[in-house]
Amino acid sequence: MNVNQIQERLKEGNKRYVSDLENPSSDKELRGSLTGGQQPFAIVLSCADSRVVPEMIFDCNIGELFVVRVAGNIANKSSIASIEYAVAHLNCKMILVLGHESCGAVTAAVNGGDNGPNLNHLTDHIANAVHAGQGKELADVIKINAADNAKALASNSQIIGDAVVNNSVVIKSAYYNLGSGVVDFID
Ligand SMILES: [Zn+2]
Repeated sequence: MNVNQIQERLKEGNKRYVSDLENPSSDKELRGSLTGGQQPFAIVLSCADSRVVPEMIFDCNIGELFVVRVAGNIANKSSIASIEYAVAHLNCKMILVLGHESCGAVTAAVNGGDNGPNLNHLTDHIANAVHAGQGKELADVIKINAADNAKALASNSQIIGDAVVNNSVVIKSAYYNLGSGVVDFID
C-alpha cells in the first residue's frame, strides 16, 4: 500500500465506525452517553505492537479500558503520568501491565548496544528484566519485564503507590500469546 492507499483505508474504516456500519462495536448511543465523561473499569499499560490491541484482546468497547501504550510497556514519566490521572480522577481499581510474545522492545534490550538516545531511554527501563532474566528464554524476560514495570509504577509514583497501599488499586501483570490470543496472568 502506498501512503494514499493507507490514508484511504484509515478514512474508510473511520467512515464505517462513524456510520455504525459493519462494525458491531460502534454505537452512536454509546458514544453519545460518554461525551460527558468516562468511567473505564481498568487501566492497561501495553506495548505499541500492532498485534497487541487491548480493546480487542479483552473484547471491550469505547470507554471501558484506559489504555496507555508504549513500546515495551514501560513505566516511564509519561506512562506513569497518564496512569496517575486514571487512578486519581477516574477511580480505576486495577492496572494491568501487559507484556507479549516476541516483543521487539524487549528483544532490543536483550541485544544491548547503543541504539541512540531515545531507544536507549526505553531499553534502560527494561534493563532490570534483562539482568534478572539472564540465561532465560525471551518469553521469561518479557514476563519479568511486565512484572518489573508493574512494580515500578507503584515505586515511582506517589499517587499510584499510595493507591496500592490504601487498597484502592491493584497492579497485575500478564503475558499475551500472539498466536492463541490467550492472556496469561502472572502471579
Ligand atoms: Zn512489544
